[in-house]
Amino acid sequence: MTDVLPRIILKRGKEKPVLRGHPWIFSGAVATIEGEASPGDVGEVYSRDGHFLGMGHINPESQILVRMLTSRREKIEKSFFEERISRAVELRREWFKGKISAYRIINGEGDSLPGLILDRYQEILVLQCLTAGMERLKGLFVDLLVKRFKPKSIYERSDVPTRKEEGLPEAKGILYGEEIVDPIEIDEYGCRFYVDVKEGQKTGFYLDQRENRYSLQGLAQGKKVLDCFCYSGGFSIHAGMGGAREITLIDSSEEALAKAKNHFVLNHLEGVSSYPIRGDAFEVMRDLEPEYDLIILDPPPFAKKKGHLHGASRGYKDVNLQAFRLLKKNGLLFTFSCSYHMNWDLFQKIVFSAAVDANRRVQLLARRGHPLDHPIDLSHPEGEYLKGLMCRAM
Ligand code: SAH
Repeated sequence: MTDVLPRIILKRGKEKPVLRGHPWIFSGAVATIEGEASPGDVGEVYSRDGHFLGMGHINPESQILVRMLTSRREKIEKSFFEERISRAVELRREWFKGKISAYRIINGEGDSLPGLILDRYQEILVLQCLTAGMERLKGLFVDLLVKRFKPKSIYERSDVPTRKEEGLPEAKGILYGEEIVDPIEIDEYGCRFYVDVKEGQKTGFYLDQRENRYSLQGLAQGKKVLDCFCYSGGFSIHAGMGGAREITLIDSSEEALAKAKNHFVLNHLEGVSSYPIRGDAFEVMRDLEPEYDLIILDPPPFAKKKGHLHGASRGYKDVNLQAFRLLKKNGLLFTFSCSYHMNWDLFQKIVFSAAVDANRRVQLLARRGHPLDHPIDLSHPEGEYLKGLMCRAM
């Protein structure tokens, strides 16, 4: 290698997590940077006493100063990324064939590609670059993805506020192929959904909840269902497919409810009584009668920062308390948290305390998290954000 790469020298003792494979190095762990380093460069990482630890994308402007790419000394070039993409694709290929047409192909750190997200919706790919390093490689990724998948279009959805922390503006738009005009119709275990990759939430759909939605197909027969924070009705549609008798949907977004309505039609579920309610779930739930057999609580992340955890805990407690109040005897509650900072233990304690306050005895039937296409690197527990508890209230 002829290029002289910037060298990141860590403070004494700070090499330990890196040696165990953690992909993030915070600026506080860095003693000095030797050489010219600008956001998005590849740099070499060394311990204080000069041991080579690996290479990663660096961004001196970000609190996460390095995102490790490899523990070896190697060329970070096209073939390097080609191999990482192949590894990610291989994981998904066999599982999803013919069953679903929308899934995550690359899950950032979980697929050893920190800062890069790639979702597939039929023949459309949606790319998200979260770091300066990945931003620079956008052109390379587009080339690799076109070659590998021959997509109709590649659309960028890097319109996420966390880009600010990397000194990057939000960005969205077509990167390759045809302009996308209509929503894309996807198949999720027999249910059909329209996905708007340009304006929809996340990259268009909550792919991370797919398996949990699907599980309702086996649980909803004859049930009266309440789907809180429903977005475009994913859980409701699967419940409808599973034979639900009546479904009430709550979301604060009018647009989301309009999408949900279309999904009932698309799936020929007009025969199921459905009652969309637009409003704040915290308020709406207070006014409902306790007559539900199955309740889904899938709120947005209440704790986006660690400091929000206290307020978030109260929010989770409140909605879960309402849910237990609204459940009939032996009713089921499927309750989620997608806050990074809320761990399993705390979440379960909050749900338990909601049960106590609602004066219900509750069985925990299952813990449900992320699906197979959202892998987490075990050395990077921060990647695990989705936590779900399936409960039955006596
Ligand atoms: N269950 C959905 C995803 C839910 S995302 C699925 O599987 O697709 C969270 C949803 O909560 C968003 O649609 C958002 O519009 C809605 N939301 C946010 N705050 C809310 C509130 N206070 N009351 C009701 N809905 C809210």
